[in-house]
Amino acid sequence: METKKYEIYNYWKDKAITKNFEVKLWEACTTDDEAVKITDFPDEIFCWACEALPYVTADSDNIKTLWNHDHFLDRAHIFAKSKGGEDTPSNLFLLCPNCHVEAPDTTNLQNFYAWVYYKRRFDNWVLTCKKEFEKAANIKRADVEELYKRWERLSLNLDTVEALRGQMAEKCALHGSAISMSSKMMSFIDILLELTEE
Ligand SMILES: [Zn+2]
Repeated sequence: METKKYEIYNYWKDKAITKNFEVKLWEACTTDDEAVKITDFPDEIFCWACEALPYVTADSDNIKTLWNHDHFLDRAHIFAKSKGGEDTPSNLFLLCPNCHVEAPDTTNLQNFYAWVYYKRRFDNWVLTCKKEFEKAANIKRADVEELYKRWERLSLNLDTVEALRGQMAEKCALHGSAISMSSKMMSFIDILLELTEE
């Protein structure tokens, strides 16, 4: 039988990956390990590599079904399935579809852990958005520092973020089944300029 997401979560919930790409109990880690903890809160579904969040979480009244009914994360094999990697909690890791494609298919476990460690530290979702924002600013020949200042002036809260996302969605067109990051970020800059015009 296929290992369920909740079992995978249960195995990894108290684990961390150290700077030497070893899996260790979080409690046993010291500051020298510079470890990345896999997950903090039991009710938080997110990609364990890039930290992307699902747009919707499963409707559920307990933790077990919250994990098992999730549709966002893939069950990714650590030791590659095609090389005989088993369907056990210790050999499975929960990744968003993008990271699942990007993850190394390997027989060297340390390669997988090194990749996760790198994603968490240097290539996570927040950093990707920041990079894409700055790229869009360069394409539009806008001053990035100036844009960041305008962004601060917006003093965002949950309501204004919702409104902003709505306005962005109106300006973006679907290309196949996706809206490109460049259209999202470039329209975000247009809106940012409009809203903070003096
Ligand atoms: Zn991811």
